[in-house]
Amino acid sequence: MVKAVVGANWGDEGKGKITDMLAEKADYIVRFQGGANAGHTIVNDYGKFALHTLPSGVFYDHTTSVIGNGVALNIPVLFNEIKSITDKGVPMPKIAVSDRAQIVMPYHIRFDEYEEERLGKASFGSTKSGIAPFYSDKYAKIGFQVSELFDDELLMEKIPRVCVQKNVILENLYKKPPIDEKKLLETLHEYRDMVAPYVCDTAVLLEQAIKDGKTVLLEGQLGTLKDPDHGIYPMVTSSSTLAAYGAIGAGIAPYEIKQIVTVVKAYSSAVGAGAFVSEIFGDEADELRRRGGDGGEFGATTGRPRRMGWFDCVASKYGCRLQGTTDVAFTVLDVLGYLDEIPVCVGYEIDGEVTTDFPVTSRLNKAKPVLEKLPGWKCDIRGIKKYDDLPENCRRYIEFVEEHIGYPITMISNGPGRNDIIYR
Ligand code: GDP
Repeated sequence: MVKAVVGANWGDEGKGKITDMLAEKADYIVRFQGGANAGHTIVNDYGKFALHTLPSGVFYDHTTSVIGNGVALNIPVLFNEIKSITDKGVPMPKIAVSDRAQIVMPYHIRFDEYEEERLGKASFGSTKSGIAPFYSDKYAKIGFQVSELFDDELLMEKIPRVCVQKNVILENLYKKPPIDEKKLLETLHEYRDMVAPYVCDTAVLLEQAIKDGKTVLLEGQLGTLKDPDHGIYPMVTSSSTLAAYGAIGAGIAPYEIKQIVTVVKAYSSAVGAGAFVSEIFGDEADELRRRGGDGGEFGATTGRPRRMGWFDCVASKYGCRLQGTTDVAFTVLDVLGYLDEIPVCVGYEIDGEVTTDFPVTSRLNKAKPVLEKLPGWKCDIRGIKKYDDLPENCRRYIEFVEEHIGYPITMISNGPGRNDIIYR
């Protein structure tokens, strides 16, 4: 049985917590896309962790954590992440890294930095983790697969071939020093030694797991609105954030994905540039940011303050549809307990007309939010375990959202901990 946990919005919906929770009954947790540019925050008995590369299941001793072929693998980050969790007393996790995953090279990170610097104000707000240059190279067919680290003859031919082109850009466009090929080979040898204990054909591993009736969880990074095809292009990420891509990025058959849990946040937040129709500013935004998430809405990887907004039914309905949602997990609802009234974006006004269909970016940039206000519940809902025990106005909010997005909310998260969950 394969399940996916994915985001409907701009990322940071709380997928880490939901994955961690579902991982209790899973055997394999698989990262299938993205890289170390975003992170999941997990709170458990060992402490609070920000994971960037490892899947959220690493804290259980019964699960195997898989880095699928679709991931942008930063080997030193993976290595240090493993160390940081074992240093805090977490037992050494079982980890499998796909031999087909490609490697984030040191020059990908440099290119990311230099390009953001060159673009200045027009930059994409990249986290400078090398993700865009990495995926460009993957599709330009000059990327390095993990398996290639074990073939010195290949590396010695390929490094100079790739560097010729990179160095022209480094020296002429960015006016920076060229790549030192000898040092690069040494670095790749270090990467090889770091990753060697974990490398295998993860698609075969997962095929066997499915045959044996094991539970496999696919863990997505970011959300629908950051998908390169269906998101707010060009302010998107460089790999697909959709559950459908889980089949490709993990190397499994698409029809094996039986449950798609789409994580939807009870209000909106976003990092980086791009249209954000229900965005709020000033004191209103500061208060929500300060109260949001678990200790404030600041990036897990970068520490950047997140942009804040009210719940967006248009974006979330679209986000759930493109994921192929079977279940919605509605998160961080407890945070809204301070508000007298809660505005919700129920439509977009574009050129004088109201729509509830999420538009292409050029039209999205013109959209103004149509807001409806719902009464707040003015109390702390943390610790509540049963749906019927939630305050009436809180249930009204949930049911209003469910009706507007059109997908069933089967889980409600009312706190950052693993057990802060209400099944419906
Ligand atoms: P992800 O990238 O989708 O996993 O999202 P984040 O790691 O940014 O998670 C959002 C933050 O919200 C983290 O600090 C979580 O611990 C926290 N969080 C998750 N669910 C809840 C919830 O229901 N209530 C509260 N207050 N915090 C939550």
